[in-house]
Amino acid sequence: MQRIHTDNWFVTPDGKPRGYIEPHALKELWFHTGTACNLQCSFCLEGSGPGDTRLELVKFADVKPLIDESLTLDVEQFSFTGGEPFLAKQLVQILAYAATFKPCLVLTNGTDALQQRMDEVRTLLASKHPVSFRISIDYPTAQQHDAGRGEGTFSKALQGLKALYDLGFSVSVARHMDKDEERAEMEAAYRELFVAHGLPGDLHIVAFPDFATPGSLPHVPQVTTHCMTTYQTEKSRKDFMCAFSKMVVKKQGQMKVYACTLVDDDEEYDQGSSLTESLSERISMKHHRCYSCFAYGSSCSEA
Ligand code: SF4
Repeated sequence: MQRIHTDNWFVTPDGKPRGYIEPHALKELWFHTGTACNLQCSFCLEGSGPGDTRLELVKFADVKPLIDESLTLDVEQFSFTGGEPFLAKQLVQILAYAATFKPCLVLTNGTDALQQRMDEVRTLLASKHPVSFRISIDYPTAQQHDAGRGEGTFSKALQGLKALYDLGFSVSVARHMDKDEERAEMEAAYRELFVAHGLPGDLHIVAFPDFATPGSLPHVPQVTTHCMTTYQTEKSRKDFMCAFSKMVVKKQGQMKVYACTLVDDDEEYDQGSSLTESLSERISMKHHRCYSCFAYGSSCSEA
């Protein structure tokens, strides 16, 4: 079904054709497990917090049909984000099912919700395909991390990271990327931190710029078709998340396909309930977060 869009989807406020991405595959399927979280961080791009229901907690019965449909589209990986995914009671059941088909990645804050379920999590080691974890450690010091996430969360996140690693899971870290940071210095500080905690110094780190909170409209340059053809190539356009992935969220009791992990606060990116149909729709780069993809190559994917 072709969606009806406003003019704003197609042209910038000054009348230029917007940049766009043509999806070419469904390599990675993301599930948003819900915006409930055990932490409440002011910077959260999802606006998550305790009891939040903007996006609802998912159950196995919600997710299974989409896993099954994606397998017919040759999906290569399943990824899960929140909120805090471990607040979804059936998360481990969902992962056990998904990992019978393809590798899985779970994004977690690594604190209480994960640590209380380690016995259950351990069972995933027996899965046919690996389940790996990405833990958020925003900065390499407790002072900076705890300022955003709450007292004691740095130490708990490191505990969660180490516990998963010691069990034998593959782990990586998500960090914040400040505009004026010295990248090499920042990454060296993480390497030291990992080694000091008995972790490999070369753990994979994914850095994210500030995406702003849901519904906000920060002023960023508009991405036009001219930008996408002058500064990007056919090959680089295929690396945008919306070119090879989708995200599914639960809103008002319905599972909905969105164009990527970054745009679930704009209904124009709601692509309905069919993954198959969503792949034929061109994605406009109208959202302010599209500029981060254009300028910084932002991607939630490890695929
Ligand atoms: S935020 Fe990035 S991945 Fe998402 S629709 Fe915009 S350009 Fe595509």
